[in-house]
Amino acid sequence: MKILIAASEAFPFCKTGGLADVTGALAQVFSRAEDTEVVLFLPRYRNVGGGAFSLKAAGGSFLIPVGNRVETATMSRVQWGKVAVYFIENPKYFDRPGMYRAAGGDYEDNDERFLFFSRAVLEGAKFIGFKPDVIHCHDWQTGLVPAYLRTLYRIDSFYAKTASVFTIHNIAYQGMFPKETLLKAGFSWLDFTPERLEFYGGINFMKSALVFADLITTVSPTYASEIQYRPEFGHGLDGVMKHRTSDLFGILNGIDEEIWDPATDTFLERGYELKSFQRGKAAAKKALQNELGLEENKDLILAGVVSRLDHQKGLDVLLKLAPEFLDKLQFVVLGSGDPGLADALGALALQNPKRVAFRSGFDEALAHRIYGGSDIFVMPSRFEPCGLSQMIAMRYGALPVVTRTGGLKDTVYYNGEPKDSNGFAIDNPEAGELRSVLGHIVSLFGWRENWNLMVRNAMRGDYAWGKSAEAYLKLFNIAAQRRQL
Ligand code: ADP
Repeated sequence: MKILIAASEAFPFCKTGGLADVTGALAQVFSRAEDTEVVLFLPRYRNVGGGAFSLKAAGGSFLIPVGNRVETATMSRVQWGKVAVYFIENPKYFDRPGMYRAAGGDYEDNDERFLFFSRAVLEGAKFIGFKPDVIHCHDWQTGLVPAYLRTLYRIDSFYAKTASVFTIHNIAYQGMFPKETLLKAGFSWLDFTPERLEFYGGINFMKSALVFADLITTVSPTYASEIQYRPEFGHGLDGVMKHRTSDLFGILNGIDEEIWDPATDTFLERGYELKSFQRGKAAAKKALQNELGLEENKDLILAGVVSRLDHQKGLDVLLKLAPEFLDKLQFVVLGSGDPGLADALGALALQNPKRVAFRSGFDEALAHRIYGGSDIFVMPSRFEPCGLSQMIAMRYGALPVVTRTGGLKDTVYYNGEPKDSNGFAIDNPEAGELRSVLGHIVSLFGWRENWNLMVRNAMRGDYAWGKSAEAYLKLFNIAAQRRQL
């Protein structure tokens, strides 16, 4: 089967969050399955891969219509294991400091940047003669690909048998633009109806995908149900989702167990596994306290956070409570995003340098050390499509403290019985609930046997991609077969 993955980010080339981990991991696992050929398309942002990959020009250039202009796309390529990675180049659109935004906010031409990318993917695949059985698209940035296939490209024989599968990683980000974008994208006004591309007078890239993709997936079973049946989770698209109920599947994300392996993690002082986690984690905790100027004390509970700073993540609730727990807990937060939250975290750290450390920005190495050194990992999200951080934390023996929502609900078990629990969970991201679970954690931490039982449960979990990758491939087959009919 020929699989084309179109995404706006993929680890290790370009990453702002979990989306990149997932697209990168999927490309690799699909390519290792039997009888598959995988091509991954990404935009060529500035510093793709931090210079670690040497990209080769893929020859020639082609033109992409954008409204009544044309823009030039060129391509470069790198072979990444069995995956051929193609980068769509256009310096005006992609050679910028950020991937989606600058300090002042989202780039104003994000509609053009990603309609250009989506169309360049379809033209680029033709250019290299790669006729996919399935195009797997991810989130709004590639949401127009399924729409193009069924409108502008529906009579293109190259794509006559190509199916599209669209994966929702976060329905809160939809790519909503004014109706003028419809013309920039090259669609006709005939398609500007509520059943097709129109969305409250404008165009919504994610909705376009939900209407036109052959099959739709999202990243956990619980989120699949939340976005259909709970309007506060559907962000205005629950109605559209309900039309596609029989084509929507929740497939839980996995983590790359090679990248996230405490036994071989070179960012840690010393590796550890299930048998040796007590010594390994103690060393990682001490090193982290040292590195961040915190009090070196094994009896304090080290609470880690590695996260986008966004309302979604509920960290404002944690921030409110943190001062109450500073006699028992230390907080280490690595994150970037909301400047208000960053300022408040910075101020708390300044007032309590031995108990709170805040590092702003994106730091892969420090993230690894936080997972390794933390006793608990706090993620009181308001919603969480899947969440990778809690799975990484569990693999590293840091017990997650989560809200029962989306993928957090599907991966973290907490029922008051340590032997059946692998973390802690609350129903709502509210101060009262978080306070009481943190209180419970403080008392349980002294009860080593039970604590270690939970750590072992967490570390033993299966977070690999195996089963989920099989589920995707099965769906790809179904989607491809439907196109053959
Ligand atoms: P989301 O995709 O909503 O951001 P996930 O939990 O699915 O959240 O994935 C987050 C991923 O990004 C994890 O791999 C996490 O370690 C990483 N990450 C988030 N923020 C940072 C940061 N500031 N520095 C390094 N890694 C980060």
